[in-house]
Amino acid sequence: MTSHDPESSPRRAARAEAERLATAALALPAAPVEDTPVESAVPTRRERRRETPAPDAARPGRSGVRRLAPVLLRRRLAVVAAAVIVVAGCAVAIGAAASGGEPDAATEAVAQIDGPPPVADDGIPVPQLTAVAATATPCDDPVFTAALASGDDAAVIDAAGGGQAFRAAVASGIAPCVSLSDPNREWLVVNKQRPYDPVDYQPSDLVMPDNVRALEDSALRAPAARALTSLVKAASEAGAGEIGYLSAYRSYTTQKSTYAGRVAIGGVAEADRESARPGFSEHQSGMAVDIVPCNGSCKTLDDVAASPQGAWVREHAWEYGFITRYAEGRESVSGYEPEAWHLRYIGPELARAYHEGGFTTLEEFFGLPAAPTY
Ligand SMILES: [Zn+2]
Repeated sequence: MTSHDPESSPRRAARAEAERLATAALALPAAPVEDTPVESAVPTRRERRRETPAPDAARPGRSGVRRLAPVLLRRRLAVVAAAVIVVAGCAVAIGAAASGGEPDAATEAVAQIDGPPPVADDGIPVPQLTAVAATATPCDDPVFTAALASGDDAAVIDAAGGGQAFRAAVASGIAPCVSLSDPNREWLVVNKQRPYDPVDYQPSDLVMPDNVRALEDSALRAPAARALTSLVKAASEAGAGEIGYLSAYRSYTTQKSTYAGRVAIGGVAEADRESARPGFSEHQSGMAVDIVPCNGSCKTLDDVAASPQGAWVREHAWEYGFITRYAEGRESVSGYEPEAWHLRYIGPELARAYHEGGFTTLEEFFGLPAAPTY
């Protein structure tokens, strides 16, 4: 500011005079006023002029404490308050505009401000933190983990909220406590990229299914055996004919000779398309079975697809906990040519989710990478 500023000179004189009179009348020591946060509001040019003390006014000490007379202090506070109101009002208006509010609402908000508002709590937009639901993992649920520890697969899936919820949790990666490599679980996934661990795993509850024609002395794990009995009975009652089976559980050792026999006939490439290497076969789990249609005598695996039994199984196997593991046209994911005869037991709840979800590979069902080759 320059000394010849026509606007401020009379005001400075008046202010100086008022201060002098007030100081003389009260004869009180000027109260120290500390810098307050409101002074940090950016003043206008005019306010900066007013801020500048008159020549005979107390100047700010080096300590930063200002000594101002009460009258001057009140004026200054009034000026600062006005500045704050203007700033707050602008902020309210900007906030209302930004939030798409009505202009009238912004005006009302300003009108309601009485004195130096610390914050216009109904006008200035406050950043809204979007509420993000905590990721609910079944692995944090004591009921789920207790069921998992008990070895009861059905109870685990029930605790997860059903087959679809279980699948979704596992496929999305939020259920790391569920292992798709555990050979004792109905949700085991074995393919050309996922061998058994241990490689010579052997199930402990193998039984021969009741009332099912077995062409080989080949057992299934108890739940799968019971399910096969129910499936075969239902197919028969539905008029689809008798379903027998050739091969169910095959040990690591058996698979070794089976695979070696295929290699001897057609070479490794051919063998890998039709048979699993030892340690990589679903049959080693005791939860896979190769069915055949029987009408008096039983036919071959290749006869399943075109048989009434094959048609019935495609429609209803899921109701008994089985899926057609190697479906038509999915070799690039499953690693195997279609096998209408090869049923895999995954339990009724997961099989329902598989069926209702329209899945055709277990890899996609659980969000696993494709496994076309070893
Ligand atoms: Zn098979």
